[in-house]
Amino acid sequence: MSCIFCRIVAGEIPAEIVASDDGGVAFLDLQPLADGHTLIVPRVHAPSIEALDATASDRLFRLVRRLADPVRRAVGAAGSTIGINNGEATGQTIPHVHVHIVPRWPDDGAGSIHTIFPRRTSRSLADVAAAIRKATAE
Ligand code: 5GP
Ligand code: ZN
Repeated sequence: MSCIFCRIVAGEIPAEIVASDDGGVAFLDLQPLADGHTLIVPRVHAPSIEALDATASDRLFRLVRRLADPVRRAVGAAGSTIGINNGEATGQTIPHVHVHIVPRWPDDGAGSIHTIFPRRTSRSLADVAAAIRKATAE
């Protein structure tokens, strides 16, 4: 098994595990962006959120929801940024889908999700919405 997160799930390599259930395993990021930076991974290997079946996805997000408040309280944070780098093109480095919970403080120097985008668009909202509705119906 070459996937590092599959190996953490299997207990083959160590990690600071903070929770575990049928939805997956939650452990501290080895190179935390902030105290309490936690990763939640599904038990099954899947490179992206699209590759997870609905049940695995539901269970994963139930675990994320369960952990959000304890992670924040454990480090005395004011909130958390929760996100997924979903696919190699987004900067995902470990191809086993994982949800980041990064605790946040008002003066931590980080921005919102909006700050990572230069806001470059070329199509109207109506055009894009129609395309997404069509793709969703397929
Ligand atoms: P990505 O960029 O794929 O969304 O995030 C991968 C994260 O996994 C990074 O924040 C990185 O620090 C973390 N990471 C990489 N290898 C390991 C590891 O072996 N153990 C743990 N706990 N975290 C890791
Ligand atoms: Zn894996």
